[in-house]
Amino acid sequence: MTEPGLIESSPAGPDTLRLFFALWPDDATRAALNRAGKWLHQHWGGRRMRADTLHITLAFLGSTPAGQLDALAACADMVRTDAFELVLDQAGYWRHNRIGWLGVNQTPQHLELVGALNTALQGGGFAVDARPHVPHVTLLRNSAGGEALPCEPVHWPVRDFVLVVSRREADGMHYDVIRRWPLA
Ligand code: ATP
Ligand code: MG
Repeated sequence: MTEPGLIESSPAGPDTLRLFFALWPDDATRAALNRAGKWLHQHWGGRRMRADTLHITLAFLGSTPAGQLDALAACADMVRTDAFELVLDQAGYWRHNRIGWLGVNQTPQHLELVGALNTALQGGGFAVDARPHVPHVTLLRNSAGGEALPCEPVHWPVRDFVLVVSRREADGMHYDVIRRWPLA
């Protein structure tokens, strides 16, 4: 049972899902991202993310009642933006959480997608994180980081976005894609 006042911080129960919207790579892009992770790991160390976890978060919802899935999907249905290509060529490091990542230059279509999705979610009454969005693929955890490195660009053809359930297991995080929305 959840104590009053602790609802926000309580872990997900069986009737809530930890959800986020994301860009999910096709197989070729996933392989290229995984190679980039291997390369960055050689320089910066840490723990590599499994290939099947690689993604770019578009909007993070966190613990959400399963009963709100339809309303959530209706928000995503309203997003009408074009397919585009992302080029990831910037290796970055965040000291505060020891994450090594691969980032993108500002891509107008990507910003448009993030903006449209967040606007639709807010319109549907969903609380989304309002912090500035840094599009990135987490490649390394618990990494020491290191000198700035030029990275072989990864070209990612973005044709859709997805809704993902995040689950913590003994061997790490697992992300299950539960729905997909094509871009025009
Ligand atoms: P852990 O939290 O155990 O380290 P994780 O961060 O991989 O694992 P989640 O916390 O479920 O898993 O996050 C899923 C995705 O959403 C990740 O890409 C994460 O970076 C992103 N994310 C998590 N919290 C936020 C947030 N408050 N704002 C934006 N993105 C977030
Ligand atoms: Mg997290």
